[in-house]
Amino acid sequence: MGGNNTKIRFLAKQTYEALSTEFPDSTCSLDYDCPQNLAIRGILSAQCTDKRVNITATDLFGRYSDMKLIAYEDPAVIADIIKPCGLTVSKTRSVIAFARKMTEEWGGTVPNDVDMLMEVPGIGRKIANLIVGEIYGTPAVVVDTHCKRVMRRIGITDSDDPARVEKDIMKVFPEEQWIKIGHLSVDLGRKYCTAKSPKCDECPLASFCKRRI
Ligand code: SF4
Repeated sequence: MGGNNTKIRFLAKQTYEALSTEFPDSTCSLDYDCPQNLAIRGILSAQCTDKRVNITATDLFGRYSDMKLIAYEDPAVIADIIKPCGLTVSKTRSVIAFARKMTEEWGGTVPNDVDMLMEVPGIGRKIANLIVGEIYGTPAVVVDTHCKRVMRRIGITDSDDPARVEKDIMKVFPEEQWIKIGHLSVDLGRKYCTAKSPKCDECPLASFCKRRI
């Protein structure tokens, strides 16, 4: 992390306050009504829009009310349903692997354990953190493409590596803000701090953003 720690902590405080004011209702952009529903949506979300994931997952869960049914379904049938989300082969394998873990090893529950969740192919640290944070309220930082870009531009991190960005965020934001700062940075990244043409003139962080000043 560049700069001194006190300065970056103050930057984090300013960032959190400004983003909370700008996006008071910030929340997870994936719809879900149970832990397994969020996990499957997380798997489907790789290189796919949240809108498409939400439509496809609603279709999947409309056909299968129980993870046991997904666990032992013909993979070709699951592939056909989740095809609109892309990366069909790997996502089909992940969805079925997750359903089998739940059925055969986790007693029908989703564990509040990042390492256990990451045993499922297709569930990386980002999705595992999303699950434990959203479902169980376990402090965890979800570093997606928006979060990574925004945190680097603001000056919270100087890294492009998600694991380093996660650590840099954890150093300067209080634990109780970890889940929310992920959602807030996605909102900022979508509305102002877009990848190609950031709208710095309108951005609520413009007065202290490292890239801007
Ligand atoms: S001022 Fe510009 S670069 Fe900085 S966070 Fe806002 S949009 Fe992004």
